[in-house]
Amino acid sequence: MTPPAKKKAPAKKAAAPKKPALGYPVKKLVVPAALKGVPNGKLPAKDLKTIKGGGTLYTTAAESFNAMWLAAKADKVTLNNQGDYRTYAQQLALFRARYSTKDAGRKPKVTRQFEGKTWYLRPGCAPCATPGTSNHGLGLAIDLDTRQSKVYDWLRANAPKYGFYLQGKPTKPDGKPNPEFEPWHWQKVDG
Ligand SMILES: [Zn+2]
Repeated sequence: MTPPAKKKAPAKKAAAPKKPALGYPVKKLVVPAALKGVPNGKLPAKDLKTIKGGGTLYTTAAESFNAMWLAAKADKVTLNNQGDYRTYAQQLALFRARYSTKDAGRKPKVTRQFEGKTWYLRPGCAPCATPGTSNHGLGLAIDLDTRQSKVYDWLRANAPKYGFYLQGKPTKPDGKPNPEFEPWHWQKVDG
């Protein structure tokens, strides 16, 4: 007896045209000439400007952010500020809340050098910069709520048009996860 003919596999539907995969736009921060010599976290009031949704950034970064915020809004995406300009005192408080000179065993380990000591990122905390070195202290970085993929995808596709970039990629060149990666941190890079 001949076996019953096998059912033909249904013809595959034509694949929908694929959207190009979103990358991770990264650009190294260049401190604007006008900010050279201005102490981190001690920007004079004249250098700060209010941004859409509340908060302040360095004047030119604020103007670019506001243009980006409006473009996002036109696309029905809300950019929610979770961290803008920080004074030195604010960065110090944040750093002390997140890091300790005792290693509590967080994996992967993230460390900073500050006041001649090694500081360890506490378990459950997100990294932040050493006081006096943060891009937030120059008003050139903003933390945005990127937990919704709609927001995150919009930023990855559009932020560079307004000069905003991520600080690093989610993986290191060796393919291992980058423990310093901050999908919420967008920094304004001129040029
Ligand atoms: Zn940040």
